[in-house]
Amino acid sequence: MHISNRVKTLTPSTTLAITAKAKQLKLEGYDVIGLGAGEPDFNTPEYILHAAKNAMDQGLTKYTPAGGVADLKQAIIQKFSNDNQLEYKPTEVIVTTGAKHALYTLFQVILNDGDEVIVPSPYWVSYPEQVKLAGGQPVILEATEENNFKLTPSQLETSITEKTKALIINSPSNPTGMMYSEDELRQLGEVCLKHDVLIISDEIYEKLIYTDDAHISIAQLSNELKAQTVVINGLSKSHAMTGWRIGYAAGPEMIINAMTNLASHSTSNPTSIAQYAALAAYQEEKDPTIEMRKVFTDRLNTLYDLLEEIPGITCLKPKGAFYLFPNVTEAVKNNGFKTVDDWVAALLEEEKVAIVPGSGFGAPNNIRLSYATSKEQLIEAAARIKRFVEKHQ
Ligand code: PLP
Repeated sequence: MHISNRVKTLTPSTTLAITAKAKQLKLEGYDVIGLGAGEPDFNTPEYILHAAKNAMDQGLTKYTPAGGVADLKQAIIQKFSNDNQLEYKPTEVIVTTGAKHALYTLFQVILNDGDEVIVPSPYWVSYPEQVKLAGGQPVILEATEENNFKLTPSQLETSITEKTKALIINSPSNPTGMMYSEDELRQLGEVCLKHDVLIISDEIYEKLIYTDDAHISIAQLSNELKAQTVVINGLSKSHAMTGWRIGYAAGPEMIINAMTNLASHSTSNPTSIAQYAALAAYQEEKDPTIEMRKVFTDRLNTLYDLLEEIPGITCLKPKGAFYLFPNVTEAVKNNGFKTVDDWVAALLEEEKVAIVPGSGFGAPNNIRLSYATSKEQLIEAAARIKRFVEKHQ
């Protein structure tokens, strides 16, 4: 009753369902280890907090331009220039209420009913839902484990139809942590240029890379690709600012202008105080991700090595983000469960370890473990998973 058909098709977030169940068990007094988190477990750096307080004291608490305050846009433009060798004009950038809302707004302005968006799986849970909400049709293409969870150019080419509007690239990826190389991006980009497919490049994990691989934005590979790409980024992961809700999009002026118009009728603007906090984050010389990367690298190596010892669990080593995405098919079968979802539910019930089943990410043979939690908790979680698997052998 009173609920639109559009919203009725939404799939509830599996991540949130597991988190809710884990919280409930915690309330009941159980010692639950949660590996579901999608946010850094670091505090927002002090200098950013100060900037927010200063903004309040100075009365910077009013409406701002819908596309974001000019100084912040300029700081984002500078960031693109420094980090990605990409040059944008202020009319080609919009500040949004988190990267999530940048994507939401983008789909709303580019899609007509029935337009297709190619979403490689495993995917971040919100992509297909946001496409559907905009009247579009998500076309899920499996990026196989054999190919390191990466889409191949021929897979892309054969799935393009006259309705294809856009391709989503998320590198480093949530949930797999994989990254495309420059060459791979170039090849995917060529297919998109050939068929006039818009590229949506979600680069939110750009700063969280634990190998020598450099982050490459597909937009930086040529002027043609830049003109065909909307880059999505934000400060949630790079500056431990998930709750502040500041993200942004950069791309062709016509698209950014349409997004800004839509924002003016939906959010009006991202929170003014958070925008000034983000400005300070980008103006600061110190890079908070140096310390984060050190800590995350150590945790990744620790958890990865421990998982390797568990029978029936295999895992590609991720290069970035803060998740491991092991394949547990063998363990699930050997442990006598029908599905990974059942196995995950029993693990939470019996050993009080909360992890997210891969089904929500379009990968029903895998699980996602976040290492945005302390090393001690990770070691304990791995021990519990091992005990669970051995008990059910
Ligand atoms: N894109 C990906 C791949 C993510 O994992 C997330 C957050 O989990 C987002 C976008 C959204 O980030 P934000 O907090 O800026 O909305």
